[in-house]
Amino acid sequence: MQKDIERIAGDAEGTTYEFPVFRFEGTDKAAPRAYLQAALHAGELPGVVAIDALMPMLAEAEAEGRIRGAITVVPWANPIGRAQYHFGEHQGRFNLGTRTNFNRSFPLLAAPDARLLPDVSLGGADRRLKNRLVQLSLGNDIVLDLHCDDEGLAYLYIHTSLWPHMADCAAAMGVDTVVLWSEDNSGTFEGASIMPYQNVPSSVARFDRRVATTVEYRGMLDVDGALAASDAGLYCLLVTRGVIQDSSVSKASNFTGAVVPLENIDMMPSPKAGAILYDVKPGDRVEKGDRLATIVHAPGEPGGRTEVFAPQSGFILTRRSRRIIRAGEDLLKLAGDQRSDDARSGTLED
Ligand SMILES: [Zn+2]
Repeated sequence: MQKDIERIAGDAEGTTYEFPVFRFEGTDKAAPRAYLQAALHAGELPGVVAIDALMPMLAEAEAEGRIRGAITVVPWANPIGRAQYHFGEHQGRFNLGTRTNFNRSFPLLAAPDARLLPDVSLGGADRRLKNRLVQLSLGNDIVLDLHCDDEGLAYLYIHTSLWPHMADCAAAMGVDTVVLWSEDNSGTFEGASIMPYQNVPSSVARFDRRVATTVEYRGMLDVDGALAASDAGLYCLLVTRGVIQDSSVSKASNFTGAVVPLENIDMMPSPKAGAILYDVKPGDRVEKGDRLATIVHAPGEPGGRTEVFAPQSGFILTRRSRRIIRAGEDLLKLAGDQRSDDARSGTLED
């Protein structure tokens, strides 16, 4: 294994950001290559500790000569967000200088060619970071971007062009749900990993072996040794897809979890600002008309509570980790049995 330090120039003299990149060389040039990154939203740490649990397994495989395809691992993909504290609270989702989401505005290339990347020498540190992450990931057959939600189930975002080819990956990782999407105009990292292959010859796109996904490893607080060990099911994915050889691991095949089109997700905006009393938690099945939450906006006053009901049947995918909410902010994600009536539905929300 080789460790390199990447350097991203800051926006002022004297500021440079650094992050480590770990590379495992493969023994077979024809084998699939894999790229894993975590904490692009810098405070989302379940993926960071999953990589910590995975690395000794990769080291052992390397020592035994079982790594066939090259593997690149970036455990802390966002040194800019990692260093951002605002009034004592960590802020790893948006760049404080530009208010840009760290998982938006990635360049969506027309083909998987790093020469098409935009010139970002004057573009700001976050754009330089995004260019570099795309560059590191290009050329890999398997690209995993590890995130987490507020409170939630373990789920994957997968582009429709990769489904159901990726059912073995979802099974290997042991996630509960797959959310299928088809359009990305906002430039997520996942979009930047899959859109370059949409209009190239199939011999280049290789959808039979391509893997790109945003992994939502449950919630912000699910940073836990036992979960990290089970999330090292990432190893099982690498074995299943032939990156690593390991006869002691049975290859995954059938995915038995829920598969939900993004258009079916109801985001449930809160009608009032106040304190949330939830009736449901991630994983709960709900029927149309079931109460999801009560917003206490005028405590003790007549009419001081407003209830929110399920617009359709389905199950709860995520909910907020904090219990304070403003009017219009989303209470939860309901994975509906049918298409949502909410016009915002269908947009990537990781
Ligand atoms: Zn995220």
